[in-house]
Amino acid sequence: MAELAIGDIAVEALTETQARAELARLAELLAGANLAYHTEDAPEISDAAYDALKRRNAAIEARFPELKREDSPSEQVGAPLAEGFAKVRHAVRMMSLGNAFDAEEVRDFDARIRRYLGLADDAPLAFTAEPKIDGLSLSLRYEGGVLVQAATRGDGAEGENVTANARTIADIPERLDGAPEVLEVRGEVYMSHADFAALNTRQEAQGGKRFANPRNAAAGSLRQLDAEITRSRPLKFFAYAWGALSAPLAETQMGAIERLHALGFETNPLTVLCDGPQEMLAHYARIEEQRATLGYDIDGVVYKVNDLALQARLGFRSTTPRWAIAHKFPAELAWTRLESIDIQVGRTGALSPVARLTPVTVGGVVVSNATLHNEDYIAGRDARGEVIRPDPEGHPKDIRLGDWVQVYRAGDVIPKVADVDLSKRPEDARPYTFPAICPECGSEAIREEGDAVRRCTGGLICPAQAVEKLKHFVSRAAFDIEGLGAKQVEQFYRDGWIKEPADIFTLKARYGSGMQQLKNREGWGEKSAANLFDAIDERRRIALGRVIFALGIRHVGEVVANDLARHYLRWDTLIAAVDTARPAAARHRRAEAAVEAERKAAASEDRRARIKETRDAVWADDPQVPPEARAAWDDLVGVDGIGTTVAVALVTSFGQEAERASIDRLVAHLDIQEAERPATEGSPVAGKTVVFTGSLEKMTRAEAKARAEALGAKVSGSVSKKTDIVVAGPGAGSKETKARELGVEIMDEDAWLALIGA
Ligand SMILES: [Zn+2]
Repeated sequence: MAELAIGDIAVEALTETQARAELARLAELLAGANLAYHTEDAPEISDAAYDALKRRNAAIEARFPELKREDSPSEQVGAPLAEGFAKVRHAVRMMSLGNAFDAEEVRDFDARIRRYLGLADDAPLAFTAEPKIDGLSLSLRYEGGVLVQAATRGDGAEGENVTANARTIADIPERLDGAPEVLEVRGEVYMSHADFAALNTRQEAQGGKRFANPRNAAAGSLRQLDAEITRSRPLKFFAYAWGALSAPLAETQMGAIERLHALGFETNPLTVLCDGPQEMLAHYARIEEQRATLGYDIDGVVYKVNDLALQARLGFRSTTPRWAIAHKFPAELAWTRLESIDIQVGRTGALSPVARLTPVTVGGVVVSNATLHNEDYIAGRDARGEVIRPDPEGHPKDIRLGDWVQVYRAGDVIPKVADVDLSKRPEDARPYTFPAICPECGSEAIREEGDAVRRCTGGLICPAQAVEKLKHFVSRAAFDIEGLGAKQVEQFYRDGWIKEPADIFTLKARYGSGMQQLKNREGWGEKSAANLFDAIDERRRIALGRVIFALGIRHVGEVVANDLARHYLRWDTLIAAVDTARPAAARHRRAEAAVEAERKAAASEDRRARIKETRDAVWADDPQVPPEARAAWDDLVGVDGIGTTVAVALVTSFGQEAERASIDRLVAHLDIQEAERPATEGSPVAGKTVVFTGSLEKMTRAEAKARAEALGAKVSGSVSKKTDIVVAGPGAGSKETKARELGVEIMDEDAWLALIGA
């Protein structure tokens, strides 16, 4: 078994040596993430991932206090400063907050404070609760009521002097009436969703970079060396705290916030006073509900002890105050409104439902589209018909237009709609009817037995499929024609110059001379037109694997295409084999449909046997599938890496009249190269069919396969009468059993290596 990466070992299971190494690794990771977050305005990892690393670090430090590092991430607030701004030492350190992630931790926070202060469980203890703005902290220093300095947080002790930039922000007053002689106001600079969207549109129009999210846009805008650029950016500011003071603002947190508001600062209207955890959690729920409609990003709720005298008694623990905590939202989830469902048609004709959402930030990125997978998913069931979103009675919760839905994002995965809140369903909402007609071409869209996806049957007459097929056809691993990329193909398709791949190879005949010529098109000239015709001609001679891949057949990616090429070597052989196998494919489908019911049945001892019986019965059914069809089929599905799914896709594609005609027209223009037969003179395994099963210890599966093929062996994925050798490693199961039944030679990995002289 492979050794666990150190980052995957549970904290409780770490040895001291591992803990030391892991703390070093975490310190480096977190420092890198901090730097990216604070100085480069582009997050490297999600907030949730960052928090998880920080928590792991803290847990290891709690278990091995003696291993805590000098540069421990738990002592760091921000990141080193970016070059370019003068440094400002904060008169009072800018703190960060400890985090709570669930209700239990919020109750612990209250209990901890009571213990520290020696308060009874029922003694009154009030907290403020306010949204945690996801922006950039800023400290504003006023002397005699005049703004004299603005500084970013930096590492908490020292920030950047951004006074000139701060002065351009409308929410930041230049002068205050009736303020203490010295007053440092702290708060958050942020950008609203609407302003963020408009800024990105402007940036795009000017060829500038797009910002990933409003926080990065706010940080990038505030930290401009040219304050005039900051002025052109729509930044806002909420005040929520203070640093150095020559006289107290109030006796309570709430009073101080009200005072700041009275002095002319924007303060968050959702700040309320709570008498304990129950009210705090209720307010948290209210704020979370409103999150999508606030118009700016928040990432949690901050609770603070209201009584400032108690705050002073509680004080700080390293860099975080004991009297405040940030209750974070689950970072990768958010609720928002489903505005509409669009159907996109892909290259293979698949109709994919896409949710159009009221924009909401999920894990640091504004999301306005999310996948709904397919029609079963919308109805609340998986491919097998099982309920995936049960309501309290176990019925599936379907998704309807206007629903309040939960959006989920993980890493780079496309956001998806994960859940629906039935209590917020509009009264007139009706179950969604999935279209049975392709929105692109009007052809019938059908669902094949066992397929979760509905597909357009329009094939080449469907513009969505045709354009996507053409783009795929000219892509890098396919025909890769210089000067003919996705953009050009799209334009040619739009103008009717290229409707299918074959048209590429008649382009010169049609537009190389005469009335309409390529060289006269906008964006083209004599030279570029001639170059394109040459590049196309060069590609008439092409490798078999590229042709197979370029056809864009379902399930046939680059690897599968090359597997097929190596197995069949010639285009004619491949086509003939697939055509011959066709009757068997139909039989295979019927057999699989028949065993589907058995597969669904609860696990039972004889289920496997029943599946086999049913399948055999269908295969034995009259009229008989010609033996050569069965043989061709077995050979096809036996190619390593192929299997029945690919085989069915090939048979279907080559069997559809319009598509086949289009492929034939294309091939007529090509000189397809025979795939290389490996030089196998003297090879002991040339021409033999080999199956690898179980786990290999001296080489990977891919390596074993490549070496066997280089020696002229055919590597197959399944054991049949045609198999010559089965190489069985530990854990080999049914394939080894079958080989034994058929009397096929079985050897272990060492014997195989000895045989091939490795
Ligand atoms: Zn269509």
